[in-house]
Amino acid sequence: DDRISRISSSIRVIPDFPKPGILFQDITTLLLDPKAFKDTIDLFVERYKDKNINVVAGVEARGFIFGPPIALAIGAKFVPMRKPKKLPEYSLEYGTDKMEMHVGAVQPGERAIVVDDLIATGGTLNAAIRLLERVGVTVVECACVIELPELKGRDKLGNKPLFVLVSSA
Ligand code: 5GP
Repeated sequence: DDRISRISSSIRVIPDFPKPGILFQDITTLLLDPKAFKDTIDLFVERYKDKNINVVAGVEARGFIFGPPIALAIGAKFVPMRKPKKLPEYSLEYGTDKMEMHVGAVQPGERAIVVDDLIATGGTLNAAIRLLERVGVTVVECACVIELPELKGRDKLGNKPLFVLVSSA
């Protein structure tokens, strides 16, 4: 797929950030390429538009970039899933990789996707899934631009499906 290769080549890899030995996947260069950015959003929209999704839950911080255009295109609400202690009050939190969201942002029975830029160990997505499910939301799938398959983050999501555009060594 041409779109996938364009997206893949627009991601900059930064060696030894934030620690020696880590290859950081930098999606800000994808955002600088309007075609790659649009293709990214289009691929997610094509997948989720007819799935009765009411909630796009975006994980801080880069899920706040990819989530809203998907939500607008599929007619769902956007709910920010925040790192701890960022919300004024009335929040719930879950997990060791803690996530918080506003009480009342979602209702039991709603259907959500969870969006982030990248899955590494899966701890972040796991916390987001557990928090949403704790308030009765059905998490239909997680969606990321990039997966680092060596870290086996998928295994931490239980049987929850994960959709990714690019796999990175
Ligand atoms: P996990 O919880 O799966 O170990 O880590 C995923 C979270 O860390 C995501 O929110 C993601 O944004 C961030 N993250 C970890 N490694 C990278 C990376 O190489 N590039 C980017 N853009 N984000 C990363």
